[in-house]
Amino acid sequence: MLCKIKPYKIFFIAALVLFVSACAQDDQSTPDEDATPDQPKTAPLQDQQEEQNEQENIDFVQNQPPLEGGTEEEVREPHPVSNEKLQRLYPDILVLRGTLEEDRVALTFDDGPDPRFTPEVLDVLEEYDVPATFFLVGSRVEEHPDLVNRIHEEGHAIGNHTYSHPNLPEEEEGIGRLQWEVRETEDAIADVIGFQPRHFRSPYGMLNEELVEALGEMNHTVVGWNVDSLDWKQISTEVIIDNVLSNTGPGSIILMHDAGDSGFEDEDLSSTARALDEIISKLQADGIEFVTVPELIGVPEAK
Ligand SMILES: [Zn+2]
Repeated sequence: MLCKIKPYKIFFIAALVLFVSACAQDDQSTPDEDATPDQPKTAPLQDQQEEQNEQENIDFVQNQPPLEGGTEEEVREPHPVSNEKLQRLYPDILVLRGTLEEDRVALTFDDGPDPRFTPEVLDVLEEYDVPATFFLVGSRVEEHPDLVNRIHEEGHAIGNHTYSHPNLPEEEEGIGRLQWEVRETEDAIADVIGFQPRHFRSPYGMLNEELVEALGEMNHTVVGWNVDSLDWKQISTEVIIDNVLSNTGPGSIILMHDAGDSGFEDEDLSSTARALDEIISKLQADGIEFVTVPELIGVPEAK
């Protein structure tokens, strides 16, 4: 049977064997061709720099207390109508804006102090001599008292934004947890500036009737907002400027952030400080005056 293989078949098989062995040689030679003999064995300078930055980020994250309920982006609703309904129910406790009768607005900054972004925001406010209101997280107050001092000394108002930034309506401990969060924070703030703040803003703006009533009983004014810069969505400077200028009018309380969650690269809020410059100058050109929340709504800063 073997003898009966036709010559053209033998030629075909021989050609196939030659082809396969040529391919195998190519494969073997590939690594040698790709290797650059002079390439250093250590990581290039850029990689070393990146490694160093990464280490610095990790160190920073360890120093900055996290937002317990998660990032603003994970939890916050862009426009919680429920707070407008709550405001109608509790007009003496919950405030979402000031009066329409005066050309005054209040800039508010949540989640700080944050050594990355708070100084940037304070520098712009100082440049324009504009006061604002900072709703501080208690655990971060303890970590960065120097920044709290600077906020206070430069004429800004300070409010309570809980100790660990939980999503309060979801907390199993209910009002007990609210009371703990509020007290820990007011003590931390009082240790630095000498008084407990009266104004309270709930993390993510999340509230319900029970929480508002309890806050009222604790002698707090609950402060929401009616203009959301949406800076917590990690958007560009231009979009932040647009969101604020398109929605601000007399009496507006404007929500911005001078801090994010502890993730260094995930929550870059430097566009907030960049946006401030144009927001302030355009509103001032329209004859708008910037005041603190206590001034806007006529409720003292201290309890
Ligand atoms: Zn917050």
